[in-house]
Order: sequence, then structure tokens, then C-alpha cells
Amino acid sequence: MQALVKDRRGPGAVLMEVPVPECRPDEVLVRVKATSICGTDLHIYRWDEWAEENVVTPNVFGHEFAGIVEAVGVNVVNVKVGDHVSGEGHIVCGHCKACRTGNAHVCPNVRSFGITVPGCFAKYAIVKGTNVIQNPKQMPFEIACLQDPLGNAVQAVLAGDIVGKSTAVIGAGPIGLMAIAVAKACGAGTVFAVDINPYRLELAIRMGADAVINSSDVSMADALHEVTGGDGVEVMLEMSGNPHAIRECFAAAASAGRVSLLGIPTKEVSLDLARYIIFKGLRIEGITGRRMYDTWYQLKNLLELGRIDLNSIITHRFTLERFEEAFALMASGQCGKIVFLHEE
Ligand code: NAD
Ligand code: ZN
Repeated sequence: MQALVKDRRGPGAVLMEVPVPECRPDEVLVRVKATSICGTDLHIYRWDEWAEENVVTPNVFGHEFAGIVEAVGVNVVNVKVGDHVSGEGHIVCGHCKACRTGNAHVCPNVRSFGITVPGCFAKYAIVKGTNVIQNPKQMPFEIACLQDPLGNAVQAVLAGDIVGKSTAVIGAGPIGLMAIAVAKACGAGTVFAVDINPYRLELAIRMGADAVINSSDVSMADALHEVTGGDGVEVMLEMSGNPHAIRECFAAAASAGRVSLLGIPTKEVSLDLARYIIFKGLRIEGITGRRMYDTWYQLKNLLELGRIDLNSIITHRFTLERFEEAFALMASGQCGKIVFLHEE
């Protein structure tokens, strides 16, 4: 089968023939119909320090997918051939303390689909039976493949109070854009979106943001204090990973507010803890992946009941053959979510 393989420990990737993977007793073989490019895939493609430390090569990469079950291992009871599915990408051990106390999303023994084990930029992918997520047959594959990043957004928005709270999403990348829609659907008060990229701010309005701030022109903290009558914002969702934006995010937070940190800074971030966290009485949550599987149930309801609409997030569609163009576009930031539609 054709697969996009990270074949080297350096920039780039190659589309090549690899054997169709074998489905073991606890696994499911999925014929992949649609995949999307995550920021993590761009890290793998470009090959930065994070990739050097975390990524196994050679490996088929990609982890956001939707497809149809082609074969099922003998021990798998929750899925059958022909089912439409996606998958949770974190393959956890199931026996550590985190796993056994409802915190499998932070399992220290995790293996990651498309990062340390083969992923989905291919005709077929292997998914652990327990990680399979069922999709309704009427859900378009290109929407179903977005559920993994949607889960990141949902976990962040629902990590604390949201109803009636002023909310700011810092970084209107694909996850931030989804968080805007989720926050609105879950009853947030005024939702502000902050970014430095006008293209992304335009998308933020389409996803339902009540107001947008371009923080390349102004101080985000000053602007957010001004629009909230000096109070600051009650729920800050940090989805840029930019160190300067992270500091501004704490400065913009209202006293007794909460900050969900999802964006991943590539270096240490220094912060005046006393001024911006302790004396403000802030609550801070680190957000990683999706809670297994609480977040999936939450996101499925939002999506399947039509409470959120992800159609405007998909701005570009490619076949896998055009991966170089797709990754260049992703790197430019002049896009929302990029989807690969897999050919028969
Ligand atoms: P992304 O990285 O494209 O989004 C980041 C957005 O932040 C961009 O639109 C960019 O223009 C904006 N930005 C950059 N600097 C800014 C600044 N100074 N002020 C305001 N905005 C700024 O794509 P994404 O996929 O939405 O990912 C968002 C972040 O979440 C990334 O850091 C990514 O690595 C991280 N991430 C975390 C998890 C997790 O489990 N915690 C999972 C996936 C991605
Ligand atoms: Zn574990």
C-alpha cells in the first residue's frame, strides 16, 4: 500500500510502498478515508528538537483519521467489519496508577499512534480495539477525522466553569477555532479570539467569536482589560504556545478566573507567579490529549447533535500525493484545517 513515511531523522518525508499491516488479536485494520494534518505532523515533517527526542523512524506518521473497518482481531468485541470509525491516538498501558484512577490521558507508559507506532497517512492503519471510536455512517469522513483535535478543544473548554463566563481563546489555530465553537455551544459569555494572523482571525469570526483582537498591533492584556471594563477575562484558553502570549494570558486573566494551558511552548516560560497567579487566586489546568474517554462522549454529543459545525474549519483538501504542497501551506499559516482525502 501507499503510505507517507517519515523515513529519515531530518526534514521531509516520502510517499512509498509499504506492506499492509497485520491485524493482531486485539487490533482492528481500518481502511483510511480521510486524515488531517496536526501541528505535531508539521513538527515531524520539519524535524525539530521535539521530533528528534520523541519520534520513531522509519514510521508511517499521521494520527487524525476516519475510515471503515476492514478486519477485526479475534479478541475485539466492540467493532465489526464495515463500521465507520476513528481512534484515540494514545495507546495506554492500562495498569499504571494514572490509568487505574481515571487519568489514562497522562499514562506515563503511553505509546502514540503516528509518532512512536505506525499511524494513518496510508491506505490502511492498525488501531487497538479498545481505542476505536464509532462514527455515525452519515458523518462525512472529513469531519470525523477532526474529532481528535476537537477533543483537545473540548477538554480545555470543559476543564472548569464556562457558562456565562467571559472567555478568551489565545491562538486561533485549528484547536483554538474549535474551542471558540465549543465555548459558544456550552454557554460561555462573550468569547474573544486573539491571534497575530488576520487569516485566522477571519476564521475565528466564522466560528462564532464575538470579538477578535490582533495582538501584533496591541497588548493583548491591555485590550482584554479594556473590553471587560477593567476586570480581565474569567476563562483564558491558551492555545498558541507562544511564550509572550502565555505571559500576556496570565496578565489578562480576571481575579479568581481560570487558565487552561494547551499550547506547547518550545522553551521555558518565566512568569511573575506572585503577581499573576497567587494574588489573583487563579486556577490553572494543563490540558493534554483527551480524557479517556469522557472527552470523547462530550465531543460526540456536541458534534452529532449539531451543536457545533466544523465545516468552515476545513479550508483545503489534498490527496496524499500532494503532501509537499499541503505541508508548505500548513507552515505558512494561511489555512484552517488541511484534510487529505484518501483515494481508493
Ligand atoms: P497552531 O500551532 O497553528 O496554532 C497556533 C496559533 O497561535 C496560530 O494561529 C498562530 O498565529 C497563533 N499565535 C502565535 N503566536 C501568537 C501570539 N504571540 N499571540 C497570539 N496568537 C499567536 O495550531 P493548533 O493545532 O491549533 O495548535 C495549537 C497549540 O496547541 C500548538 O502549540 C500545539 O503544539 C499545541 N497542541 C497541544 C496539544 C495538547 O494535547 N496539549 C495537542 C495538539 C496541539
Ligand atoms: Zn498507564
